[in-house]
Amino acid sequence: MKAGASKKPVRRKYEPTEEPCKKIVKKRSEGKCEICGIRPGQSVHHRRKQSQGGPWTPSNCLHLCGDGRGPDGCHGMVTNTRTQYYQYGFLVYSGESWINKPVLYRGELVVLDDEGAWTPSLDFGQEAA
Ligand SMILES: [Zn+2]
Repeated sequence: MKAGASKKPVRRKYEPTEEPCKKIVKKRSEGKCEICGIRPGQSVHHRRKQSQGGPWTPSNCLHLCGDGRGPDGCHGMVTNTRTQYYQYGFLVYSGESWINKPVLYRGELVVLDDEGAWTPSLDFGQEAA
């Protein structure tokens, strides 16, 4: 029995965009969860999953409370793939683009860009022209 060998290391492809993306997203969030706006941001969530081609870009990522590995916080909440989380833009289907797809950002529908800014969206549920 090896001590401390209970967890297998997670193998992940190195993405050069990961660090710059996290930096922009954390600056945008000012350290607070981008869904509830109350608890500290602890982890970065992909709206469209990495396994479904979702990139490390600020428009595809949200800084959320919860560590993203368990059920805690908003990150734990949105990983339950409920229909309303897709409607709120917290999750994006594999065939769908996250770009210009509104997200319910601290109670306000917004469109995220890749520079760390957002604009209010009044077009919920519609494709941007
Ligand atoms: Zn939260």
